[in-house]
Amino acid sequence: MKNTPFQNYLLNLEKAVSVLGLSKEESNILREPENIIEKKIKVELEEEGSKELNAYRVQFNNARGPYKGGIRFHQDADINEVKALAAVMAIKCAVADIPFGGAKGGVQFNPKHMSKRDIEKVSRAFANAFADDIGVDKDIPAPDVYTNSSVMAIMLDEYEKIVNKSEPGVITGKPIELGGSLGRENATAQGGAYVLQEFIDTIHPKKKDLTVAVQGFGNAGSNIAKILHYMGYTIVAVADSKGGVYSSNGIDPEHAVKVKHEKDDLTHMYCEGTVCDLEKLERDGAKIIKNEDVITCECDILIPAALDEQIHKDNAKDVKAKVILELANGPTTPEADEILKEKGITIIPDILANAGGVTASYFEWTQNRNGFYWSEEEVQKKLKPIMIKAFTDIWKMSKEKNIPLRDTAFALGVDRIIQATRHRGRV
Ligand code: NAD
Repeated sequence: MKNTPFQNYLLNLEKAVSVLGLSKEESNILREPENIIEKKIKVELEEEGSKELNAYRVQFNNARGPYKGGIRFHQDADINEVKALAAVMAIKCAVADIPFGGAKGGVQFNPKHMSKRDIEKVSRAFANAFADDIGVDKDIPAPDVYTNSSVMAIMLDEYEKIVNKSEPGVITGKPIELGGSLGRENATAQGGAYVLQEFIDTIHPKKKDLTVAVQGFGNAGSNIAKILHYMGYTIVAVADSKGGVYSSNGIDPEHAVKVKHEKDDLTHMYCEGTVCDLEKLERDGAKIIKNEDVITCECDILIPAALDEQIHKDNAKDVKAKVILELANGPTTPEADEILKEKGITIIPDILANAGGVTASYFEWTQNRNGFYWSEEEVQKKLKPIMIKAFTDIWKMSKEKNIPLRDTAFALGVDRIIQATRHRGRV
């Protein structure tokens, strides 16, 4: 039977415990969350009438700073999933070395096709129910799956009504007008690009003409395709849930973004429905591909930026890339990890590769607390050294211990949390 997300987290923890030689008492700190808060929230929906929804906030660990993590609205957001996501947030914040712990929240319902008004009701009900549990120095939520800056704006509004004061730093991922940070929108991709470039400079400083395939063309995927294109990489494949395009001559990501925006389908770069412009395809050395084909296409660097578990035991053996930059959370299953390791493929793990997102949330929180706001250039200038330091710390430890980057990143994060815990005298 397939492992649950929390079991997978525990497997990674076990490896870190053995690398670091932690005692049982120390490792137990990270085996269970500090707080699991479960509530029923009642909402009167316009379309579905009166509803009682399961809502959670899991506060995993706060040894390094206030709990931090997103809130997802999803029918599968059960406690097991939210627990695993909260744990990984704690490790990710420690890897980026930002002063936050880890948390995650969720409301178990399907928001697809729900009216804006009903989403607002759920958002207000969540903020109301958890107002005592969150706080600018306590626990700072952010967007996650099917929540966005508008949901954060509503939650902030509700929270501020309850506490009767302005407190923008209680939530990150807000609209700019409510104290959101410039540069947050593409920080995940930008952070991933900094890490990738540092990795390439470390192993192949003279290497040019590297080709990149990107799976997922939303916030993370489309932004990294654009950033790497301007850095001189050749984007040879892009795909989203409806399929995509492979072109050995290279794809212009700006054009792909335009087509996706106008037609909501990347294949429209060459096709109208099922009718494709064969001449244009041939001229560009291009072909239409299915969304899963991007994983096994010919390229130097593969960037999963869509869903979890996209690289699994059935397709891992056919991966041709030499490097995988995990912008998505959990895109590689543990079985695939082993297969890729055998093949000598380097994985730059999610807890490092996509940590630019939470780092920009930290910048948002800092700006809110100081009431002084930075330009986009300043945000990037501050993001780059944090991402490069995280990579360098992991790279060095990986060489010293002779273990893969994922195991190293996990061990580094765990080590930093345990050190903070020791300083507090908790172990
Ligand atoms: P998004 O909703 O903006 O985009 C997701 C994209 O994936 C869409 O283009 C969608 O069509 C595509 N997709 C869905 N199923 C697919 C499939 N089977 N094959 C190919 N494409 C598919 O989401 P996002 O914010 O870009 O997040 C993507 C991933 O990155 C998630 O795993 C998320 O947790 C992770 N991540 C994002 C951020 C961030 O700041 N956006 C931060 C950290 C991690």
